[in-house]
Amino acid sequence: MISAPGESGRKTGVASAWDITRGTTSLYSGTTMPHRPIRPRLCSKASCSHPAKATLTYVYGDAQAVIGPLSAIAEPHTYDLCEVHATSLTAPVGWSIVRHQAYPEAI
Ligand SMILES: [Zn+2]
Repeated sequence: MISAPGESGRKTGVASAWDITRGTTSLYSGTTMPHRPIRPRLCSKASCSHPAKATLTYVYGDAQAVIGPLSAIAEPHTYDLCEVHATSLTAPVGWSIVRHQAYPEAI
């Protein structure tokens, strides 16, 4: 195993004042998207530092990997993915992938 030199640079810490200030300049005027995260999240794939654009959720009961828009809150059983990894994801053997229509080009 070789650890990438940029690994420690991932922004996984608490939100900084800069993030909070930046997050308040809303594109949505506060009307339709009340729960957008104020802290940018990054792709959860190792060695990828692109901003997360989608959230992957494994539904173990149905053997489905569901890819949808980035969730409002990062939860332990979900994985944030950048656009590249969201569109290139392959399902484990015996599993299917369900893609939200936010990424129709990937279906
Ligand atoms: Zn990625």
